[in-house]
Order: sequence, then C-alpha cells, then structure tokens
Amino acid sequence: MSRCIVQAVTCPACGASQQEKLFVSVNGARITEAADRIIDGAWGQWSCLNCGASEVLDTPLLFSDLPGGLWIVQRDRSERDRFAALEKEADAIFQREFIERPPPAIRDQALRVKRRLCFGRAQLADKLLAHREGIDDCGLECLKLVLTRDYLQELYPFGPVEFHLKQADAKALRLHAMTLAGAGPVLEVCVSREKFDAIAEDRQSFQEPFADLFSGLYVNASRYLGDGVT
Ligand SMILES: [Zn+2]
Repeated sequence: MSRCIVQAVTCPACGASQQEKLFVSVNGARITEAADRIIDGAWGQWSCLNCGASEVLDTPLLFSDLPGGLWIVQRDRSERDRFAALEKEADAIFQREFIERPPPAIRDQALRVKRRLCFGRAQLADKLLAHREGIDDCGLECLKLVLTRDYLQELYPFGPVEFHLKQADAKALRLHAMTLAGAGPVLEVCVSREKFDAIAEDRQSFQEPFADLFSGLYVNASRYLGDGVT
C-alpha cells in the first residue's frame, strides 16, 4: 500500500514555505512508474510557488514491490552509522508483517523477496536500477569494493566515496563515485560486463572477508568504509 503525508517544506533558494504531499511508502507494483522516476531523479521533485526553484525531497521512503521481489527501506543519510541496528529493525518488521502474520500465499511470496536497507535517494536509485537491469546487487557491491581499491589514488583526495550504478547495458556498467556528503561525481567509471560477471561469479573471494555483505540487509560496499566517516 502506498501512503502519503502532507508536510511543510522550505525553499532553499528563497526561504518561502509551502505544503507538499510526500510519499512515505510506495507500492512499486501498483505505481509502476515509481521505480523509473526514482532512478531518473524525478521522484519527489517539487517547485517553489514563490520563486519557481525546483528541488528534490530526499525523504525516507519504504519501497515495496512484493510480486517483483523487492522490499527496500530507505532511511535518512544521516543515519548511516547506525546501519547495524537499522538492518535488524527492518528485518524484524518484514518478518512480522510479511512472514509471521499473513496467510500462506503472501508468506510464500515474501520469502522470495529481497529485503534491503539503504540511505538516501542515490542508494535507493542504485538498488532499483540494478534490479530493473537484472544485476545481482551483491555482485555489484563486490565490484564497488574492487573499484574503491583500484582507484584508491584518484579517489584519495576526496575522502571516503561511494559508487552508484548509473547505467547498464549488454556490454558495460557505468558507475559514478560521489563523496559521502553527496558531492560529485568525482569519478566516472565504465566496467565491461565480462569484468563484472567475473567478479560477481567469484563469490568465494568476497564471502569470507565481507560476510555481512551477503547476509545483512544493508547490501552496500559502504558498510566497510569504517566508523565515523560520515
Ligand atoms: Zn523559492
């Protein structure tokens, strides 16, 4: 079920205030254009009635598409450091609402759903794009770990960065590196499908050092950026 609230928002350009309708929960199976609009950045965009400036509201959101096999909790970026507690909390909610309470038909569907936690709209867009393009997100995060190592020198001056998938086709994946504050892209990388497939298929090499990447809800290379980086 989708759910909205009406909230006062303040224009960053002129400071005027107005009421906007915000989604706190979106059913991606019903609102079929939602995923595409989150990916292209149009979701949550509003225009100031006073000066015409437009802004995207990066508000927390629950994105669910159970028939499509996806359930994602998007929290505020400022909460990144608490990912370990938040992934447990999100998992408990899913367990209660979709596994324990519902009738068997829903439970069977729910057991096949990917449960994910992310922080900020860019991470959510990354997840939805990977899902749309049939890219395994665990493999994608392994690729990001490899890229973080391969481009260490280039990225060093910017401090910790995070890669986001921006485009994918049969031949290549294109990713952007952004700073954790959201600035950038500070680096754009194109990776061949062959390279990605080789990394994604080499689970063994990653599973031991990065076990939580394959078992927790926060399936994101950023969980290894360390404490206190935000
Ligand atoms: Zn304004």
